Amino acid sequence: NEEFKVTPWEVSGKVDYARLIEVFGTEPIDDKLLERWKRITGSVPMALQRKIFFSHRDLNWILDLYEKGEKFVLYTGRGPSGNTHLGHLMPWMFTKYLQDTFDVPLYFQMTDDEKYLSRDELSIKDTLGFSYENALDVVALGFDPKKTFIFSDLEYNKTLYRIAIEVAKRLTFSTAKAVFGFDNSTNVGMIFITSMQSAPAFLPSVERGKNVPVLIPHAIDQDPHFRVTRDIAPKLGYYKPASVHCTFLPSLAGSDKMSASKPETTIYTTDDPKTARKKVLSAFTGGRVSVEEQRKLGGVPSVCAIFQYYYYLFEEDREKLNAREQKCVRGEIMCGECKQELAGRVVSFLERHQEKREKAKEIIDEFIVSDYS
Ligand code: SF4
Repeated sequence: NEEFKVTPWEVSGKVDYARLIEVFGTEPIDDKLLERWKRITGSVPMALQRKIFFSHRDLNWILDLYEKGEKFVLYTGRGPSGNTHLGHLMPWMFTKYLQDTFDVPLYFQMTDDEKYLSRDELSIKDTLGFSYENALDVVALGFDPKKTFIFSDLEYNKTLYRIAIEVAKRLTFSTAKAVFGFDNSTNVGMIFITSMQSAPAFLPSVERGKNVPVLIPHAIDQDPHFRVTRDIAPKLGYYKPASVHCTFLPSLAGSDKMSASKPETTIYTTDDPKTARKKVLSAFTGGRVSVEEQRKLGGVPSVCAIFQYYYYLFEEDREKLNAREQKCVRGEIMCGECKQELAGRVVSFLERHQEKREKAKEIIDEFIVSDYS
């Protein structure tokens, strides 16, 4: 598509999520599924209500098994190429909700090998360092240490490699090229790396010696990897992993996704309060050129980055969110006030998160699994 691009390594432009569902061949999360969700779990979380998680593969199958008493395992991960930002936390928070709601284990993969191979500027030491730093953010979210296993590909390679080569043997170069768009300048490591990303989807089955259903919550850009995983699963005698996909948290510039390559419009979990506040106060809004005009014409929340942050993360109460939208449209609230309020919420979130992140350093060993310790 000319207007936007979504691959595991690049997301740019204004993403049309309905179009992505068609192109990737996934299923939309519709009202029927939400009703079922409510019937099984008692409520529908904000991320599903607001279609922040908007698409899936085989989620009904996971729920069918769950209703029959067969529990699934969660698998998600992170490509550790830098510090964690709020956009990364979004799917992890949903994963935490899934762990709590269904009382299931989580396998969390740090694809530090893939980041080393795909980023010229990163050394192995860098990506290992980011694996640790990013893992602190995962632990800070409050996952259950008895049910959560965090591993880095570089440190858990003996375990993962055996499964990865089974996948690699069944994946041709032409398929990898068609799915990922590799060309002659691609290093050979990258051609293999999707096999490592498949491995945790089968690891619970290998460990338990029987087929275990796996649900992968992830941002939609990773779907190509799991399409490959799903293609190969039956050839190895495993279940195809199910998945549930989220949209991207927009950047503070309002247009594209929050991205580590644009630090001034991205809020990191490690930002100090002053820096975070400044970023929020400089965000793109849907405000008018003057206060008079805004009072007269109202703002445009649909294009406003500040409104998006309330929508995605910082206003859980639907009525309050609607009230803000209405006030904005009617010119009853000005952007300065709206930004200040969001900045306050972002800062208090970061302060609490950073405290938990410090404490995570003391307990992180309970979460990490490695072949070398
Ligand atoms: Fe955005 Fe708030 Fe300004 Fe409306 S009032 S355009 S929601 S910042």
